[in-house]
Amino acid sequence: GRQKKSMVTRESKHIHLQVDLGERSYPIEIGPGLINDSKLIARLVKGSRIVVVTNTVVAPLYLEKMTRSLEAAGKQVIPIVLPDGEQEKNWASLMTVFDILLENKCDRKTTLLALGGGVIGDLTGYAAASFMRGIPFVQVPTTLLAEVDSSVGGKTGINHPLGKNMIGAFYQPEAVIADTLTLNTLPDRELSAGMAEVIKHGAILDPDYFAWIEKDIAQLMARDGAALAYAIGRSCEIKADVVRQDERESSGLRAILNFGHTFGHAIEAGLGFGEWLHGEAVGCGMVMAADLSCRMGLLDAASTERISKLVKAAGLPTVAPDLGVDRWIELMQVDKKNAGGEIQFILLKSLGSAFVTTVPDAMLRETLKACVNAV
Ligand code: NAD
Ligand code: MG
Repeated sequence: GRQKKSMVTRESKHIHLQVDLGERSYPIEIGPGLINDSKLIARLVKGSRIVVVTNTVVAPLYLEKMTRSLEAAGKQVIPIVLPDGEQEKNWASLMTVFDILLENKCDRKTTLLALGGGVIGDLTGYAAASFMRGIPFVQVPTTLLAEVDSSVGGKTGINHPLGKNMIGAFYQPEAVIADTLTLNTLPDRELSAGMAEVIKHGAILDPDYFAWIEKDIAQLMARDGAALAYAIGRSCEIKADVVRQDERESSGLRAILNFGHTFGHAIEAGLGFGEWLHGEAVGCGMVMAADLSCRMGLLDAASTERISKLVKAAGLPTVAPDLGVDRWIELMQVDKKNAGGEIQFILLKSLGSAFVTTVPDAMLRETLKACVNAV
């Protein structure tokens, strides 16, 4: 099969994975308290000058710990604390990073370390990809979404006023260090948003994992450390395996990671970005994609129901906002994954088996009517 056998077990405390990309391969370390582990940090973070990029929410929580470990590993630390928020994933923040790098006479041997969620990770990765044509960077993700999704796979970038993630590069980190204890300070809504991507990984590629998430969703939502570590490990493993086979989204395989995202992006754009969190939109989007899969005679009704039950149990919305059917379709047509104007959907044949397809307009309209909260 195209999935590799899982190396992550429910008993693993500290999980070690490797993303296999030839000379761009890198390790992912997952476990409690890793940002305090100066031995691990010394081994994984190369170079003697480390520029830590973080934000005003994460800095008071974790910057001192991170700095202490880096210094104990014999490194000099230069912190950059950016304002918080998706709207800060922009050109001005990128320039702030470059200004500080140049003012401090940083060179190709300087390492950039992203300490934060996906916003900090994407921006720092892109800064690393372009500063002096590329310097090393390390991801220290501190949100569930970043630990299971954005820190793995090498997509980096910033937003343009005319579109999200429009400026960027594929650029792989030297290492990903996911400290599961950082999730204890995450707001509930952000935890749920990250869980959408966890559910997605099970739904598209691994029915056993999906069943495990169903069984343990209460522990996951209660932030049980062992349950979270397993979910992060298995999700990273699934994503890393997809990325290994289709690093630059050229064969079509990587596209299945967009399950729920075609509908989700329409929700985000239709309501105005930031109204629903990305993960909330993806959660609802997966319910809609499952409904469409079922209508197309692919996915059985029981599996369709399991998806919406699990999305709901993760604290995510399952009823779509009423944007108007025509507006929905218009919004989905602008998705950057579309080829030649036709909307590409990721649908399920069964739990764990996703594929890319176009759908008949009438079928799509039925799903939109059925899933939308007509007020
Ligand atoms: P985020 O980075 O905005 O973090 C969410 C909020 O949580 C922020 O306010 C942040 O400051 C705060 N926070 C972070 N860590 C915390 C902690 N430990 N305790 C308390 N608060 C904490 O959002 P996100 O959901 O992590 O990431 C979303 C971004 O990721 C988007 O910009 C999206 O485009 C990007 N993304 C990228 C990829 C990729 O492949 N590169 C994949 C998915 C998403
Ligand atoms: Mg996503």
